[in-house]
Amino acid sequence: MSAKVIDGKAFAARVRAQVAGHVAGLKERGIVPGLAVVLVGEDPASQVYVRNKGKMTVEVGMHGIERRLPADATEPELLSVIAALNADPAVHGILVQLPLPAHLDADLVINAIDPAKDVDGFHISNVGLLGTGQKAMVPCTPLGSLMLLRDLLGDLSGLEAVVVGRSNIVGKPMAQLLLAQNCTVTLAHSRTRSLPDVCRRADILVAAVGRPRMIRGDWVKPGATVIDVGINRVEAEGRTRLVGDVDFDSVASVAGAITPVPGGVGPMTIACLLANTLTACCRIHGLAEPE
Ligand code: NDP
Repeated sequence: MSAKVIDGKAFAARVRAQVAGHVAGLKERGIVPGLAVVLVGEDPASQVYVRNKGKMTVEVGMHGIERRLPADATEPELLSVIAALNADPAVHGILVQLPLPAHLDADLVINAIDPAKDVDGFHISNVGLLGTGQKAMVPCTPLGSLMLLRDLLGDLSGLEAVVVGRSNIVGKPMAQLLLAQNCTVTLAHSRTRSLPDVCRRADILVAAVGRPRMIRGDWVKPGATVIDVGINRVEAEGRTRLVGDVDFDSVASVAGAITPVPGGVGPMTIACLLANTLTACCRIHGLAEPE
């Protein structure tokens, strides 16, 4: 193995420590940032995410609010919970845990969140602001991935970036962020022809596909930086393991640097959620935003 393994866990801990420092400063001025997480139904993975988010919210000194609704909650019931959180001055960030049960319209629900409190950055206003290079709430996973890239590579200008996966929550905002950093960006997806050739062009390769170990070493340009966003549960030797969208062993022997799964992008996502909540709180109170 030749690649540097990017320690997202350690980086995320530093981000959370910085957030905690700012939160302590706000508390001296009588302001406590509040993050509300809304969970509909009993999806086991979502319950784990919500529990972790709640724990880390409290660890950085923020006020954590959890709203749980049954799986058969109606759209009006969910919208009234969101309206109450929008109106609550103690709440600065609102996150609706996805996926929602199929009978609920996720776009409608997300767009009911006050854009100023939309710490996931999924509201159509924030999507538009990001796409036009204006001050937005930036989705946490791409933001965390970009922080890792900037920390490792510094200026990204002129680099060839390939993002595999075009979802609204990861692939598209990742491409926007890299474009804003002056990368030459290719956004690949399931209809892309000759995907291995496209990937081999990349100085920065971001995998956000949801297919275990799809990207292999011979798809990667020697020395490239590989960000593996994928979180896939696979059965191996009677146990469930988490693996990424990148075949770690073969890619690590070619790439210059690579994020592991777990311990790469995943921890950055929660750290960025907390950072976004702090940013939202500062903006709502008209205070200078933390760096
Ligand atoms: P989606 O399922 O919404 O999107 C997957 C994308 O991958 C689609 O654009 C799809 O293309 C593309 N794709 C699927 N198969 C192929 C293929 N064979 N070749 C090329 N492209 C393909 O997934 P998400 O964006 O929500 O998530 C992607 C991964 O990231 C998942 O593993 C998820 O668990 C993980 N994730 C991790 C997070 C973290 O905190 N680390 C946060 C969010 C997600 P098309 O549009 O053509 O169908």
